[in-house]
Amino acid sequence: MPRRPFVAGNWKMNKTSSEAHQYVTEFVGLVNEITSVDIVLCPPYTSLARLNEDLADENVKLGAQDAFWEDSGAFTSCISAGMLSAEKIPYCIVGHSERRGRFGKLEIPETTVGYFGETDESVNLKLKALARAGITAILCVGETLAEREAGNTDSVIENQLNAALDGLGDDALKSLIIAYEPVWAIGTGKTCDTPEAERVCGFIRQVLADATSPHLAMGCRILYGGSVKPSNAQDLFSQENIDGGLVGGASLIATDFAEIVKAAV
Ligand code: PEP
Repeated sequence: MPRRPFVAGNWKMNKTSSEAHQYVTEFVGLVNEITSVDIVLCPPYTSLARLNEDLADENVKLGAQDAFWEDSGAFTSCISAGMLSAEKIPYCIVGHSERRGRFGKLEIPETTVGYFGETDESVNLKLKALARAGITAILCVGETLAEREAGNTDSVIENQLNAALDGLGDDALKSLIIAYEPVWAIGTGKTCDTPEAERVCGFIRQVLADATSPHLAMGCRILYGGSVKPSNAQDLFSQENIDGGLVGGASLIATDFAEIVKAAV
């Protein structure tokens, strides 16, 4: 089953709204002839409104980096899925390893990590909230280096997936995008070898097939994320089970990200 390639840039906590505006002014000119790839930018919340105006007539869409599961209330700093939907944001990342407090390299005291505290249960609640709001989720799963070295990669991913998908309705499952992001490859410059990235993405498809149906799993877009750059994107994206990428650092430079998007054509 042919799946439409999907490439998203996760800007994390980078760029002011005027820097974001400058970026897209350059970026749209580099990718505006690409019609065969879904292209998404996930800037900080502070840039979403401005970029939505900038991109109103463009082939580049927007995603948020996270959303809270409650619709409204006393949840200081949180943004609900409904608020994103009201701003016409079509995509949202959920369960990024940095939100889960699973850092590839730790530059902060261990005790601080708890503040990020995403769990499999909160990921599941967020997926359900996004489904209610009609927003397509980009669900991140992936193992730490210690988990990989202990031989637990597949079981970690299977557990993350099954917990995340629990009780999700058909519509949410049909639109879901999954990103395999080995934690040890994120922001470290260490890319997962292409054959291993393909193997794990194939495993994710199998877990999804077992949890839902083979038909649904065959239609699901599965991305690789972790130090994707212009030099390795084509090799990764040409694999049978890798339908594109979730790109952090390299998405901050418009020319690099445009090269990566072109590698998915
Ligand atoms: C990410 O944060 O989702 C990511 C893949 O980062 P990077 O490309 O910088 O490794």
